[in-house]
Amino acid sequence: MNIELKEKFYSFQKNDGLYCKLKGIGFSDYLSLTCSTDAIKSLDLYCPVCKQEKTFVFQGNVTVELLGRNEYPNGPGKSYCGATRLLSYECPTCGKKLLYAFYHNGSEIVKIAQYPSFYDVSRDELKKYKKNDLIDEESFNQIYKADICASSGYFVAAYTYMRRVYETLMLSVFKQNETNIDVSEEEFKKLGGHDKIQKIRSYLAIDDGIYGPLYSLLSGGIHTYTEEECSDNYAFLKIVLLDVLAEQKAKKERESNREVVLKLYSKMKSEGK
Ligand SMILES: [Zn+2]
Repeated sequence: MNIELKEKFYSFQKNDGLYCKLKGIGFSDYLSLTCSTDAIKSLDLYCPVCKQEKTFVFQGNVTVELLGRNEYPNGPGKSYCGATRLLSYECPTCGKKLLYAFYHNGSEIVKIAQYPSFYDVSRDELKKYKKNDLIDEESFNQIYKADICASSGYFVAAYTYMRRVYETLMLSVFKQNETNIDVSEEEFKKLGGHDKIQKIRSYLAIDDGIYGPLYSLLSGGIHTYTEEECSDNYAFLKIVLLDVLAEQKAKKERESNREVVLKLYSKMKSEGK
């Protein structure tokens, strides 16, 4: 089995959403990739039961006979079995099962099931942000929707939600500092993504040039990139976006705490204490 092909399949299994396809794979390669010898033996993933990253261990593969007894769509014209395969894994700590199902469609592999889904897992990951009050509720709801879209393979929609979150963040930073900025809200709204950053640059929580590239990548997901590119970059961009949101919220809280302390100090001082 060719290593490059294996790595391609491993990344597909781990990172791609439901109904995503891995093209140009023959049936015999498919059988090898999903056989007990060559299947991925362990997967580092967030366990929704243990509530932390765990190494899921390979338990076995199952060939679903009946589901696989279909005609080859463009193939030799006779039925074949084994087109649907399940790979099962288990969390060694709590026994939580992780299941993948693939279907071979003549010349490509389709991911037809994953349990728990990305949605279940990322919803849990995302909940950490909500539970610890790291991001605001509206952003949480929007990213939650992005996750639902992404887990079904609707990446353009997912990027649309993420960019909306980003735009809302930019506007809220503007509003908090409006009196110090030389454009009105209406004018600000009409500016392009990069000009907006220039106007509010000194009020952003992270001053490291992440905003421009993040904005371009999110917009690229909506207008330019292929589904594959969107799928490859989704999880990573989401983490960066969550980090930016959390930092901005922390900055706001830091500033308001600072104000309280300064007020308290001047009050005590004026009372001669
Ligand atoms: Zn577990």
